[in-house]
Amino acid sequence: MPISASMLSHVIAAVLPVVPKSVIGRVARRYIAGDSRSQAIALLRTLGVHGFVSTVDVLGEDTTSMEQATRAASEYVDLIRDLAESGVERNVSLKLSQFGLRLDEAGAFAELRRVLDVAAENDTFVRIDMEDSSVTDLTLDFYRRAREVWPRVGTVVQARLRRTVLDVEQLAKEGANLRLCKGIYKEPKALAHLDREAIREAYLDAARILLQEPSTYTGLATHDLPLTERVLREIDKRPHCSNRYEFQALIGVPIRTHLLRLRQRNIKVRLYVPYGADWYAYSVRRLKENPDMAACGTRA
Ligand SMILES: Cc1cc2nc3c(=O)[nH]c(=O)nc-3n(C[C@H](O)[C@H](O)[C@H](O)COP(=O)(O)OP(=O)(O)OC[C@H]3O[C@@H](n4cnc5c(N)ncnc54)[C@H](O)[C@@H]3O)c2cc1C
Repeated sequence: MPISASMLSHVIAAVLPVVPKSVIGRVARRYIAGDSRSQAIALLRTLGVHGFVSTVDVLGEDTTSMEQATRAASEYVDLIRDLAESGVERNVSLKLSQFGLRLDEAGAFAELRRVLDVAAENDTFVRIDMEDSSVTDLTLDFYRRAREVWPRVGTVVQARLRRTVLDVEQLAKEGANLRLCKGIYKEPKALAHLDREAIREAYLDAARILLQEPSTYTGLATHDLPLTERVLREIDKRPHCSNRYEFQALIGVPIRTHLLRLRQRNIKVRLYVPYGADWYAYSVRRLKENPDMAACGTRA
């Protein structure tokens, strides 16, 4: 019997736990700028030449000590200063669990505050990524508190979660800056839509609410081309929202032609650029979500 692409994908996902780290590293390379800030900044310059804006992420999550959390926040502080000095896009994305959210909430906010103060000094946008549903409330709470410190802060909502449409209705009233994505974390049926089409419908519902509300700004993060077409049709119905949205994608996902087409239509496209030594968890998540990436080769 011939092996289909989807069967191959399932096999790859199943064997991941025993695949040597070095092999995963080779496959994941296209999704990561490199180990260092300077590699990330070099990539930002190249993306800029091609008309893309960016957000930079220091890889790492679920830190196991507050010392680690402090090191992560210090890396963001240095990154923000380097972005400002280099004259490239000043926009970073971070994960609260990297700052110790699961260990010490007050300590994690203090580390976030340190980053926000430097972001404010250097006019840098800070996006708080969304992690699994056990920290959704806490993340939204941190986002609201962070905005009181420095208004150029945004967070993320996940269409997969059943609660998201209600969250979005409330956040839209607050004039939120949100990235809308499907959500990468596996969640139970009680909390999340599991069906692909239901997730797409929920994504569209959230997008409609956000596009309709004039005080919001929305990062439409998806590589799903049919879904993008449907979102674009919603945008076309609302000419007043022309400067209140952008599309977002991860570096390395092979949809370059599609992204260039969006640019040709003068639509802003932001690429998520992760870097750092702590690449393993990020890469495994990406591989599990999309085992086809094992066949994608290196970044173009
Ligand atoms: C900029 C950005 C930021 C994100 N931030 C968060 C966040 O904070 N929290 C969170 O939970 N999730 C985040 N995500 C992940 C997101 O939730 C989805 O898991 C991911 O984008 C895949 O969903 P999709 O909409 O692209 O649709 P899918 O249906 O999963 O993918 C559509 C098509 O895109 C291609 N594709 C998708 N992903 C890959 C890949 N990794 N490698 C190769 N091809 C791929 C495949 O061809 C696939 O068929 C982010 C995604 C982006 C683009």
